[in-house]
Amino acid sequence: MENVVVIGSGCAGWTAALYTARANLKPLVLTGRQPGGLLTTTTIVENFPGFPEGVDGFELMTRMQKQAERFGARTTFGTLEAVDFSRRPFRLTVDGEPMETEALIIATGASHRHLGLESEHKLENKGVTYCATCDGALPMFRNQPLVVVGGGDSACEEAAYLTRFGSVVYLIHRRDTLRASKIMADRTLANPKIKPVWDSVVTDVLDVKLDKVTGVKLKNTKSGAESVLDCAGLFVAIGHVPNTQPFKGSIDMDENGYIVPKRGAATNVPGVFVAGDCADHVYRQAVTAAGMGCAAAIEAERFLASALRT
Ligand code: NAP
Repeated sequence: MENVVVIGSGCAGWTAALYTARANLKPLVLTGRQPGGLLTTTTIVENFPGFPEGVDGFELMTRMQKQAERFGARTTFGTLEAVDFSRRPFRLTVDGEPMETEALIIATGASHRHLGLESEHKLENKGVTYCATCDGALPMFRNQPLVVVGGGDSACEEAAYLTRFGSVVYLIHRRDTLRASKIMADRTLANPKIKPVWDSVVTDVLDVKLDKVTGVKLKNTKSGAESVLDCAGLFVAIGHVPNTQPFKGSIDMDENGYIVPKRGAATNVPGVFVAGDCADHVYRQAVTAAGMGCAAAIEAERFLASALRT
């Protein structure tokens, strides 16, 4: 039986693991399907304190893992399938196998949101992708027109990265102002290889018959006018959905599936704590996720200390 299991291996998960490891709780970290979390798919992280020159996202996560393991955290490459919070120790199902734990820290993060088009789904990995860092350098995108959808920091970051490979990068946004932070928005609009296409949504990805991306159909949200934009790649960067499916019905969530913390990092289930993007649709930063991971670990430590006393 485990003292504390940390579900997820992003900033929140590794920080929770570091703190619970230093409290001698020997936490077990379940990596989930994407070890290191979403930050491993980004390039340079410029806003994590302590790295004035920026730090590669993958490197940051590797360092966090090493730091947690140095104090006794254990890592297993498992994915949580189901939970039973009806009694303590809690029962978990991990890759079909049962596991028991006295306390749980949920740090499952969030995944890329999809446009929801059938053609998008059919052409995934055939020109449709959700990660420029992972796929941007593929030969099929070299010196080709590319499309990024979204108006947030992610879309701006993806577009800037893709200017290294594409002949031109169209940034399709459904409004006429970017949601991105001012510094990112200014950089994006000043980049001569990025062409914003305002007030537009992608209504179809072409060409399913050819089994590759040759363009996108666009609709202007103001005029209703339709057009086709030729491109070899569609990079969707329209935000995220929380990875909370296994907890549905077991823990309080809002209507979008984000876990609702009760007080600090506690949830409505005593002994279950939450940290990071699976509970935060407001800040969603690496540093805030790390802070929440720390808070969850301290709460878990206090919970276990008082549970052992009684
Ligand atoms: P986001 O800020 O939620 O932006 C999502 C964008 O996608 C918005 O512009 C939104 O349009 C658009 N969108 C949403 N659903 C859409 C749909 N169905 N069709 C078309 N467009 C759609 O998400 P994000 O850019 O992934 O950023 C998430 C968080 O991570 C933010 O807090 C951001 O600051 C942070 N982040 C920071 C950095 C950095 O600092 N280096 C890099 C990446 C992300 P509307 O604007 O109209 O809502």
